[in-house]
Parts: sequence; C-alpha cells; structure tokens
Amino acid sequence: MSILLRRFYLNKCCLCGDSGNLTGEHKIKLSALRDEFGNVPLYIGGWDDPDNPPKLAQSPKSKFFHFAGKICKECNGTKTQKADRSFHEYHKAVKDSIKNERSDRWENGIFKHPDFLEHSEKSDWLFRYFAKMLCCRLAESEGPTPISLAKFAIGEFNQNRIWLNVRREPIQERFANEYGGWPYAAHGGLVVYANRRNREPAGFHSSLSIGSVQYIFWFRLHWLEKIELRLQHRKFYKFCKNIALDKRNMPTDPDTLEKLGLS
Ligand SMILES: [Zn+2]
Repeated sequence: MSILLRRFYLNKCCLCGDSGNLTGEHKIKLSALRDEFGNVPLYIGGWDDPDNPPKLAQSPKSKFFHFAGKICKECNGTKTQKADRSFHEYHKAVKDSIKNERSDRWENGIFKHPDFLEHSEKSDWLFRYFAKMLCCRLAESEGPTPISLAKFAIGEFNQNRIWLNVRREPIQERFANEYGGWPYAAHGGLVVYANRRNREPAGFHSSLSIGSVQYIFWFRLHWLEKIELRLQHRKFYKFCKNIALDKRNMPTDPDTLEKLGLS
C-alpha cells in the first residue's frame, strides 16, 4: 500500500505513476550539454577509477545520458516544460555571472536573480526541475518516490521540499586553472542522508555540474515517510541503511565529498 511513497516499478512513470509511453529523462539537460560541448566526441565515466574507464558516448543523445528509471512522455513534455525552461534560463544567468566574475546577486550559497525571486513562478519551476531530477535519481536506484515531491515536480502540488545550493564548480575551476577552459559536466548520483544514531535513511541528495556551475540539491524525509519506507519498501530501506553502515567504518575522502557537493 502506498500512502506517501510511490513504489518503484520499471514499467511506470516515477512522477505520475502512469504506464505507457515511457521515456528516459536526461541526467544532464540535453541543451546544456550541447551548449557546453557542441558536437565533439564525448566520453562518460570517472577519470579516477581504473576499473571503470570512460566510455565513448556517440552524442549528447546517447543512452548513457538517460536515466534508466522512466517517466512518461506527458511528464517529460508538457508537465515539466516550464521547469526545463526555468532551469535553462537560470543556468545561463549563473554562467554569465561567473564568467564576468560578478559577486553581486550571490547570497547564502545561491544566485539570486531578480527573475527568480523566492516564491515567484519561475523560482517555483526552477525548484520543480531539481525535484524531477531527485525523483529520477531515486527511480534509477529502484527506490520509491515521495508522492508530494513527484507531484510538485509536475506542477500538481505547491509545497516545495527541495533545498538548493549553487556555486562555482570546484573541479572545473581547478581544471580551468591548470589546463585552460575545458568543457565539463558531471552528476553526483544519489547520496543518502542517514540518521547518525540508527543509520536510517533521512533524506536524499544529488548534484549536477555543467561547465563552471555546480548545483547541489536535496530533500529530507518526513517522519511518516521514514516509517513507510521502513515498513513498505524493505529492500530499498536496507540498501540505504547498509550504505550508511558501511560508511561509518570507511568515511568518504575529501575529494569525493567536494565532487558530490558535500563539502
Ligand atoms: Zn508521468
């Protein structure tokens, strides 16, 4: 029974729960990849993992750039068009601000553009974009999606639960200082926030890096969602808890923390 969390099904949209006409959302927005890389050969993967060498992706349309967890065509189209547009516009403004080395409009870890004032329509849609990304990240790991978060992503619920930080991409900045302005894009996968005492999952986090900008976004589970996760989604709950237990004895190194937007 799903009350607050929508169970993961491979053949159902992780945002609205419908089946049919399913498609894979881009892990990194296609237009942003095109802006950043143009039409050059793209390699995808980690550069610091010898067991997982980068793979050649034929183009930004490659399957490597799509989430395996699916959303339906309507959710990927009309229902999230405004979110995609808001993100595109905001990203352009952030990129320009960094390029022109402007420090105004940056406040408390966020870029405050006058078109994206708090609670404005554009700001709401911008946050809906990150809600969609987190729902797709959860589905990618076969986890349930909080129904209020999924409904927020497609404009059917108004309460925003997403927290966002925006900053200059630290790795790209180091690359740019050492080697010049190489195009760069990365995502931070799905990170589980765990309760320090009992290691139960408490929230989920991800990051998205495009060129000189890193977006860090997360949400915290409501206590009722935590109970539902523990009782109704045992496999995913154990998966998350085991990661947290493993990390207790093997803390993440500082470089990875920075890459994931956790430091
Ligand atoms: Zn849908």
